[in-house]
Amino acid sequence: MQKIAQNVYVETDFEGCNCGFVVTEDGIVMIESPQIPKNAVQWREEIAKHGRVRYLINTEPHDDHFAGNYYFEGTVVGHEGTREAILKARMDRFPRGVVPPEKDFHFRPPTITLSQRLTLYVGKHTFKLINMPGHTPYQVAVYIPEEKVVFTSDNVVGHLCYMDQSSPQDWLASLKQLEQLDAEYYVPGHGNVRDKSCLPEMTGVVQGWVETVKQAIERGLSCQEAQDAIPELPGYKSERPDRHRVDVQRRNIAHLYRLLK
Ligand SMILES: [Zn+2]
Repeated sequence: MQKIAQNVYVETDFEGCNCGFVVTEDGIVMIESPQIPKNAVQWREEIAKHGRVRYLINTEPHDDHFAGNYYFEGTVVGHEGTREAILKARMDRFPRGVVPPEKDFHFRPPTITLSQRLTLYVGKHTFKLINMPGHTPYQVAVYIPEEKVVFTSDNVVGHLCYMDQSSPQDWLASLKQLEQLDAEYYVPGHGNVRDKSCLPEMTGVVQGWVETVKQAIERGLSCQEAQDAIPELPGYKSERPDRHRVDVQRRNIAHLYRLLK
């Protein structure tokens, strides 16, 4: 766990997404919950040293961001689209066949939702939740001006990401919007805590994907030919692409192909 600002703690080493919490004068506000039950219990014990959880914010509709909500108290807050996704979530989505041991385990959806913006005032802290479509239409950035911290959701990631629900145009606009915030610490959905320099990098990654698929279309390739011809999209080279990576990339290419064609 890292303390990245006066009252902000972040864990970037859990399997799943980055998780954070903010200690306010009126309790704890969490951002995401750990996906793996064992990590969630550990995180709950860590947080308990600082106070009681008031709110738990989920920044997007993917399971690695909300699966652990069950383990925490506090009101869950998220985008309407994230609530929809959690209501439909299936138990078989845990990685490596992990099964939560608790008999009454269930996914906890947000009971407070937003479509555009929502601000929570807790103690002396402000939590500005802003819908920033990109990775999915339902992404929410959590900006905490008093700490100069923003949790970006998977609109910024340090590794291979899913683009199969994405709108690249919106994504690029959201990255610009993130740049305009008066923030020093950017907590991505996955990967290390960064400063503003992560934003032009991510912009380059999104543009690179779009450009690569565009070129395949211009060369007259069919979607399947493009999937076969583009083994590794820019920004995501790996030494040994495993099946999961290849599968994600093929889905990303198919989605971009449909959008750009
Ligand atoms: Zn995601």
